[in-house]
Amino acid sequence: MKTRRQSRTARLLLIAVSGAALTGSILIGCASLGVGDIFEIAQKSAPAVQKSFEDITPEQEHYIGRAVGATILTQYDPYAEAGANEYLNLLGRTLALASDRPETFGGYHFLILDSQEINAFAAPGGLIFVSRGLLGCADSEETVAAILAHEIAHVVKQHGLQAIKKSRVTSALTSVAIASAQTAGSDELAKLTTVFEDSISDITATLVNSGYSRAFEKEADLMAVAILQRVGYDPNALVRMLEVMETRLTPGGPDFAKTHPEPEVRIAEIRKVLAAAPAAPPPAVRQARYQAALGGL
Ligand SMILES: [Zn+2]
Repeated sequence: MKTRRQSRTARLLLIAVSGAALTGSILIGCASLGVGDIFEIAQKSAPAVQKSFEDITPEQEHYIGRAVGATILTQYDPYAEAGANEYLNLLGRTLALASDRPETFGGYHFLILDSQEINAFAAPGGLIFVSRGLLGCADSEETVAAILAHEIAHVVKQHGLQAIKKSRVTSALTSVAIASAQTAGSDELAKLTTVFEDSISDITATLVNSGYSRAFEKEADLMAVAILQRVGYDPNALVRMLEVMETRLTPGGPDFAKTHPEPEVRIAEIRKVLAAAPAAPPPAVRQARYQAALGGL
């Protein structure tokens, strides 16, 4: 499914990447093109070359996210307990519906990783992975919701796509434009995962090793608070999660300790926006369904 804008972008990119040779043929071989036409083409081509993550379409984002997800699953095994994963998906999709980006090209999907690391990853497009170790820090539906809301916020704000090195976005999108112009519709997934390989490495390295900036993490925490409030969960659950994580994370560990600011730093920022009054205790039915689904993790 290709929009008119994408087709136009593809044509412009083809013009742009052909470079001097094409410019030469326009100048020498095509008498019908005047100086004004050439100037117009050059003007149109220039912004097309300088692409940013914002030019990545939802469909491209989906395929990038799938490739990132596949890479994560080469490092972690999924936790193969259907009931727990179904619960996580029901809870996560409910929260996503209350976010500023309720729908993505392929939808939101949540998967538990069979690892005792305290970790979570949000791949572009809405593939969200949460470790058993992190879920083990939770003690209620609210606290699990707080974890998921933070990861959903990373998807909403497209923090993963922004981890792609700026210099790469242009070449990746140029490759896709050429691929789609020449072989429209065939082996799309394979082609996209190939041409985006370096971009996928950028994202995965950020998710697993270096982490996002403090500004992005603060943005995700504040958006998580908003999502929790919209759904009717106590946003203080995020603070409670972080307080538990604070006692369990080892500085320098290969998990959230490496990729996220210290919990106390995050708590201080969250407290600035939270009302002091404690929320009413959650309904018993909520705690019962949490216990049934994730209580045994
Ligand atoms: Zn985060």
